[in-house]
Amino acid sequence: MTATALTIGPLLHEGKAKKVFSTDRPGVLAVAFKDDATAFNAQKKDRLAGKGVLNWEISARLFELLEAEGVANHYLGCLEPGWMAVRAVRIVPLEVVLRNRAAGSLCRQLPLAPDTPLEPALLDLYFKDDGLGDPLLTEARLDRLGLLQPGERERLESLARQVNAVLSRRFGEVGIDLVDFKLEFGRTDDGTLLLADEISPDTCRLWDRGQPGSTDRILDKDRFRQDLGGLVEAYGEVLKRVQGLGQSPRPYR
Ligand code: 5GP
Repeated sequence: MTATALTIGPLLHEGKAKKVFSTDRPGVLAVAFKDDATAFNAQKKDRLAGKGVLNWEISARLFELLEAEGVANHYLGCLEPGWMAVRAVRIVPLEVVLRNRAAGSLCRQLPLAPDTPLEPALLDLYFKDDGLGDPLLTEARLDRLGLLQPGERERLESLARQVNAVLSRRFGEVGIDLVDFKLEFGRTDDGTLLLADEISPDTCRLWDRGQPGSTDRILDKDRFRQDLGGLVEAYGEVLKRVQGLGQSPRPYR
C-alpha cells in the first residue's frame, strides 16, 4: 500500500471494534480496525491478534464491490494495513439487520428452526444503544424516536435490500452463504443517507457451503460467541475467498 499525504489527527470516537480519527482533509476521517472481539453487549471480551487487519481488508473489498454495483458508501480508500479513509458522516443510531436464514436472536425470539430460509429476506431495525441492549424497534417506536425523516425508512430499507442482493450473490460465487448481517448508515453534510460502518465477519453470519450442518461451516463472529475457537483462521478463509472476487483494495489518494 503506498503511503498517502493524509495526516491522522485526534481520536474522535472509540467503539468496540474500531477507532475513528479526524484527518487534515476536510470531510475525511480515518478508521482503524481493532483486534478486540466483544459479544453479548461487551460482557464477553477478548483480543484476537490479526482480526483487525482481516476485517479491514474484507470490509474494504466489500465496500468496493458494492460501489461497483451502484451502492454508494462511506469508504474512500485504504491507508496503511488496518486503516481506511472514509467520508465523514453522522451515524444514524439504527442497526438495520437483514436475514436470509433464521439464526441467532431470531431463533430465540420466534418459533423458527435454525436455518429456515426467509424469503423475502426479513428486515428489522434495532435502536443502537448499548445501555438499552440495542432493542428491536416497532414502527411506532421508530416514529416516537424521530430518527428518520419522511421517506428515509423506505430509502434505508431499499439500500439494505440492494446490499443483500449484491453480497448474497458475490459470497455465493465463492461458496459462502450470507445468512444475515447488520448495517449502519450515516448522513452526509447535505443530509444524504450513506452506507457506513463496516461489513465483515464481525457484522455478518457467513456459512461455508462446503461444510453443511456442522459448526465447521461457521466463518463469522459466532465462533467467538459460541466459544468454538478458530476465529482468526475462519476470518482468514473469508478473506481468501473474497480476494478471489476482485483486485486489491485501492489506496486512498
Ligand atoms: P442477531 O440479531 O442474531 O444477534 O444478529 C443478526 C446479525 O446482525 C448477525 O450477523 C450479527 O453479527 C449482526 N449484528 C446484530 N447486532 C450487532 C451488533 O451490535 N454488532 C455487530 N458487530 N453485529 C451485530
